[in-house]
Amino acid sequence: MDGIGMTSQRTRDRLVERLRYEGIKDNRVLDVISNTPRHLFMDEAISSRAYEDTALPIGHGQTISQPYIVARMTEALIADSLPGRVLEVGTGSGYQTAVLAQLIENVYTVERISPLLEQARKRLALLNLCNIEFLHGDGYAGWAEQGSYDAIIVTAAPLDIPSSLLEQLTDNGKLVIPTGPAGSQQLLQVVRDGDTFHKHLLDRVSFVPLKEGIL
Ligand code: SAH
Repeated sequence: MDGIGMTSQRTRDRLVERLRYEGIKDNRVLDVISNTPRHLFMDEAISSRAYEDTALPIGHGQTISQPYIVARMTEALIADSLPGRVLEVGTGSGYQTAVLAQLIENVYTVERISPLLEQARKRLALLNLCNIEFLHGDGYAGWAEQGSYDAIIVTAAPLDIPSSLLEQLTDNGKLVIPTGPAGSQQLLQVVRDGDTFHKHLLDRVSFVPLKEGIL
């Protein structure tokens, strides 16, 4: 990925310093964020704001997640042991996908809005990230054909945790997911232990809703 968007390296380094200050500790995650050109995952009209620690619009009423949240979720996903196969629900811009693909061997990503998926697919190919499989589908159902997964990350919030996602976790697999209504969402980490699922609260968050059906 060297050479792409290098003009922004200094601004990316400032973002990484800020994430460190906000409590992100995992250097694997910080290094990847430092190397990933977030400005390529949005319209040029707003790309001057790409290295602010804020969510930004990507069209279709959706947003590219705030870098702190991307870092926090990724950190939670890879803590303890590095998962080999990860399912992402909500490809959106593809930025979180790009971060995952630099850390994880096999990434599977599902998006319900076709134009967003196709744009993300092109951007990720331009960055030579080849270890990603894409599905235009409803992530409420996960992606059973490719499962099971060592970890699942969901980047839009359902009211309750979809049971199909729990079913597609390997034993000891980990799900990182925001849940709840707009205005009072919790970011949860769920760890599978046989048929038992242990939940931990990671943060209070604000995500776009997970919606049913495809567009
Ligand atoms: N990680 C993305 C976040 C995009 S916002 C990024 O940083 O760009 C959340 C995304 O989830 C949106 O693109 C939205 O269309 C998608 N989404 C919402 N409900 C979904 C569902 N049921 N299945 C798949 N994707 C969904």
